[in-house]
Amino acid sequence: MLSDHPVLEFLNTTPMVEGKLRDLFRTDADVLNTLARLGWPTQFKGAALLSAARNLREELRQLIENRKTGDPLDLAQLNKFLAEARSHLELSQDKKGSLAVHRVWEHRTAQQALAPVAEAAADLLATGDFELIRRCESETCVLWFYDRTRSHHRRWCSMASCGNRHKVAAFRKRNSEA
Ligand SMILES: [Zn+2]
Repeated sequence: MLSDHPVLEFLNTTPMVEGKLRDLFRTDADVLNTLARLGWPTQFKGAALLSAARNLREELRQLIENRKTGDPLDLAQLNKFLAEARSHLELSQDKKGSLAVHRVWEHRTAQQALAPVAEAAADLLATGDFELIRRCESETCVLWFYDRTRSHHRRWCSMASCGNRHKVAAFRKRNSEA
């Protein structure tokens, strides 16, 4: 996971591609695939998941940007998602007899299907270290990451793309000045 946090990964589903924002959510199936990749439940079978996911994503983008800059947070929409959530704990036992507790979600509505994302986002906003939650430094990039490097000097969404482009540009600049 490039961003090092599932909520930021969810946010990062609108990357900039050749100067234009590209929405990786185009169908309900795209949303379900992303939920699966991030380890969230995907049993939702209803309709309108796409528009709910896009709404939640834009709410989260605004909240995370405002949290980062210290601007006021309008929590009403996220709280609506949270109020829709229905979940309970379940105890299970494997063949060797070990017990494990896990959370079971209802997902009758699109909002309920996205509730785990909303809950993780609420937790991130409340307890995340926003010194370390940053946007990629590339001017042409909109991706976020949680800097979990030991030195806390991470600058790029990925070394392979933005980091490398920066290195090549800096090299060209040095050479042209020489
Ligand atoms: Zn980037």
